[in-house]
Order: sequence, then C-alpha cells, then structure tokens
Amino acid sequence: MGTIALKHLLVVGAGFAGSVVSRELAEASWKVRVIDKRPHIAGNAYDELDEHGVLIHRYGPHIFHTNGERIAAYLSRFTEWRPYEHRVRGVVDGVAYPFPINRDTINRLYGLDLDEAGAADYFERAREVREPVITSEDVVLNSVGRDLYEKFFLNYTRKQWGLDPSALKAGVAARIPVRTNSDDRYFTDTFQAMPADGYTRMFEHMLDHPSISVQLGVEFDRREMADSYDHIVYTGPIDAFFDYRFGPLPYRSLRFEHEHLSGVEAYQETGTINYPNDHAYTRITEFKHLTGQVHPGTSIVREYPEAQGDPYYPVPSVENEALFKRYEALANAETGVTFVGRLAQYRYYNMDQVVGAALAAARALVG
Ligand code: FAD
Ligand code: UDP
Repeated sequence: MGTIALKHLLVVGAGFAGSVVSRELAEASWKVRVIDKRPHIAGNAYDELDEHGVLIHRYGPHIFHTNGERIAAYLSRFTEWRPYEHRVRGVVDGVAYPFPINRDTINRLYGLDLDEAGAADYFERAREVREPVITSEDVVLNSVGRDLYEKFFLNYTRKQWGLDPSALKAGVAARIPVRTNSDDRYFTDTFQAMPADGYTRMFEHMLDHPSISVQLGVEFDRREMADSYDHIVYTGPIDAFFDYRFGPLPYRSLRFEHEHLSGVEAYQETGTINYPNDHAYTRITEFKHLTGQVHPGTSIVREYPEAQGDPYYPVPSVENEALFKRYEALANAETGVTFVGRLAQYRYYNMDQVVGAALAAARALVG
C-alpha cells in the first residue's frame, strides 16, 4: 500500500485572493499554509468592533456587489447576507447632490425640472465629444461635459490619485455611470449585500479547514521559503516579489482617520459622502449605514490619499501598465509561483473580481 504524497502549498496573503485559493486547494486535498504579515486575516476587507462596539472596516468602506451569480453563491457557503444598496452624495459648494450624476443631480444643481428624455438631451448638449476615448478625462467630458467634470471629478481625482484625469486610463472614471433616471444607488449589480456577521467572520469560515494552517505576522521570505513547497500563491505587490528589479511600481496609499461620535445616532444621510473640492480627504463613510447596526453612537472614517504607505490601489496609467508588463513577464516565467489579486496582478479589482480571479487560479492549479 503506497501513501499518496500530499502537495504542499504556501499562500502569501490572507485577503480574498489568498483565502479563496487556500480553500479551493485544501478541498482538492492539498496541504496549505497561509501567511500574512498583518496580525489579522481578510486583507483590506478586514472588519472589527472598534473600542465603542461599532463594526468598522479598518481599511475603508467595503461594499460587496456582483453580477456574478457563481461568485455570490461561492461566498454564500461562508456567510449569510444582509441586503444593502449603497448610496453616495457628492458635495459641491456646500450642497450634497446625488452621485453618480443622475437626473436629480442636474435638476437641483441648475434649478431645472427635466424628465428622463430632458436629462438625456441635457447631457447630449453638454458633452464634449471625444474620439477616441482613452483617458478618464475623455470619459467624463464625453458623457457630461466640462462643468460637471470640474464640479464632481477633476479635483476628486487629483486628490485621490495625485494625477489629473487626463493621466489616468479610461477605466478609472468609467467605474462611475451617468444616469438620466433618478436611480441614486452607487451600484446596480444584481447582487448587493454585506456579510451578515462581517467580512472577518466570513474569512474565518473560509479558512476553517483541517488542511489549512494560518500564520499571522509572518513576512514572505523567498530565499527561506521557496524550496519547502510544491507551489506558491503570491498575492502581495508584484514589484516587491522581484525585489523592485525594474524600479518601484506605483501603488496609491490612503491614511484612514477613524472617529467615534458618542451619543450621535446618525451622522450623515447616506453611507458615504464625497468631497470633491473641499478638505484633504476624499470621502466620509458612516459604517452603520452599511452594517445596519443599532448603536447609540456612530463611527465614521475619512480617507486621505497618500503617495507613500501601505499599497491599496494600482495606479492605472499608460506608463505604470507598461512597467507592470515587465514584471508580469518575469511572473509568467516563474513556473512554481501563481500571482493573483489586486496587488499581484496590478488590476483595479473589486472584491468579486478577485474572487473570480482566485477561483480561476485555483482551477488552473488543480488541473
Ligand atoms: P489584499 O486584501 O490586499 O490582501 C493581500 C494580503 O497580502 C494583505 O493582507 C497583505 O498584508 C498580505 N501581504 C502582502 N505582501 C506580503 C508579504 N510579503 N508577506 C506576507 N503577507 C503579505 N472592493 C469592492 O468590491 N467593494 C468596495 O466597496 C471596495 N472598497 C474598497 C475601499 C478601499 C479603501 C480599498 C483600498 C479597496 C476597496 N475595494 C473594494 C477593493 C478590495 O479591497 C480588493 O479588491 C480586495 O480586498 C483585494 O483582495 P486581495 O486578496 O487581492 O488583496
Ligand atoms: N471619482 C470622482 N469623483 C467622485 C467619485 C469618484 O472623480 O465623487 C472618480 C475618481 O477618479 C475615483 C474614480 O472615479 O478614483 C472611481 O471611484 P470609486 O468610487 O469607484 O473609487 P473607489 O471606491 O475604488 O475608491
């Protein structure tokens, strides 16, 4: 009787990418060790009770939304859900308008009374036709024209990225739709919900498998670890993996300023309020909207964009993507390592897209 040699996998990072791959490979009878340099699982989706007992997202607001039925069904193995549709306002000259821009935004901003056809007509007259549409500036000017661009997009984007919209690829601003109706939801995906007991609990369930061991506060060391495993799944920044051989790949960082307002039951009318033109922060989020928690006080977070610090966003410019391609060529030549996730693939992924990429990576490994 021979014994079957178990395959050993090292997963670097316990966020969505790393945790989904870990679970899939454990279920395919691999033995999985997950490490994360942070003291907790869940990556940037980590949530926790603050010292006042309010459930907050340490790394900024995370709202789950997807059109991928398979992805929602997959995560539903590890959590129940609380239906939640996110709403955002954008403050211009002290007034909070529906954002993304819709019919009500322009009616209120310009003192109009347009119906849907009127709003479509308004955008048609206001837009500056750009052909082809290449940058984020093109996207916005092409759809709503210069005044709305300057009021809602230009300064927010400069603050968020330290770059002009003209220096960012179209995909960044194309995340934000423009609507002629009065739908003021931030997302229109078919599935929009928050994990009923929080993201961290969902990750605990995902990683709770006899073949998965998790070690926190452990930094990946290629020289020390690479030879001990049949395969490595790496979900950190790709430039770091290759010792910044071609120079650092820019990632945008944020500083999160959390605040608890004791005795204040509700702070703002929607989950998030954006401040395109005022303040050093981009937006304020009040977590109780997202979580539905009932508490006599409330907790909010302000996001201050920064060039240095923990990497949170790839910066989608033409030159950064060219630099990424050079790292990607190195990654493709590494047979024993899979690179997956927002930092490793340098893609402006939402959570559901990371789950999709991780499921695909796991499938490729299981064969
Ligand atoms: P991460 O969550 O970053 O996980 C990578 C992990 O690897 C980290 O925990 C890190 O500590 C670890 N790691 C890195 N390098 C090493 C190393 N050398 N050794 C050990 N460990 C290492 N998406 C949505 O769908 N909806 C939202 O509303 C939303 N809001 C967001 C708001 C903010 C402010 C941010 C920053 C992101 C938001 N996202 C949102 C995107 C979402 O956070 C990501 O898509 C997702 O968390 C990425 O998962 P990941 O596993 O690829 O990376
Ligand atoms: N954006 C903007 N004004 C806003 C909101 C968004 O100009 O009020 C632009 C900005 O460039 C931002 C991008 O649209 O980075 C994507 O916005 P989203 O809210 O999707 O960003 P995220 O939640 O990923 O930080």
